[in-house]
Amino acid sequence: MPLSGLEGNLQLKQQLLPRLTGRRLSHAMIISGPKGSGTHALAGILAKGLVCSGTGSAPCGVCADCRKAAAGIHPDIIVIRPEAEKKAINVDQVRQMRADAHIRPNEAPRKVYILEGADLIQGEGQNAMLKLLEEGPVYAAFILLARNSGALLTTVRSRCEELRLTVSQQVQDEELVQQAGQLARCWLSGDEHALMELCVPMEKYERQQVLALLGQLRQQLCDMLTDYPDRRAVLRGITLADQLLQAADRNVGSGHLLGWLCAGAKA
Ligand SMILES: [Zn+2]
Repeated sequence: MPLSGLEGNLQLKQQLLPRLTGRRLSHAMIISGPKGSGTHALAGILAKGLVCSGTGSAPCGVCADCRKAAAGIHPDIIVIRPEAEKKAINVDQVRQMRADAHIRPNEAPRKVYILEGADLIQGEGQNAMLKLLEEGPVYAAFILLARNSGALLTTVRSRCEELRLTVSQQVQDEELVQQAGQLARCWLSGDEHALMELCVPMEKYERQQVLALLGQLRQQLCDMLTDYPDRRAVLRGITLADQLLQAADRNVGSGHLLGWLCAGAKA
């Protein structure tokens, strides 16, 4: 995907484009942004630009490095992600990266490390990368992906350039519709356990977000009224959604509202 293919974020793209094509990207970057904002996609675009060995604008798209990068098989683009069933990259993985960074690139002019969920790395791990970020080998570049860059140590942030992505209203709306649809189906199925799993991450939502979600849930239940076999269950869902919306209006917290929603499923 070219940089222009990244949704929204016009200002950032305008600012980045001449630097990407002119091969003037920073050696250490934090890409931050909420889910769905394209942090991974942007990392891929920048990594490709960094390893491109063509002449002229980067990424040229035709050199061997660009083609391998596009296929996700470039040996000099190293993605570091948490080990299986672990939440975050650990200090040993950071130390491994530190050692590996001192080995010259295999094929490309640069070697790029992409760290997933960098904001979740513990302090010790973040500290272990400071020197590398500051005075690593000239060919090495680091891209730290973060949902919440504020969770990164100030010492890490000060050594990186931060690229902040925002998510467009359209993407937010689509996600809301999708979530509400899942909630509606799950609620009607009466599977309390699955419903609770769905609701747990939503407990952190701000009130406005929960209101929007409940409103969308009500809307979708209304839409199901004609076709869903168990019409009474749908009606019960609509009544509950109305009660929850009223409660939300009286400042009842997100956690309580979602708990109420889950409890209502088994009735
Ligand atoms: Zn190229």
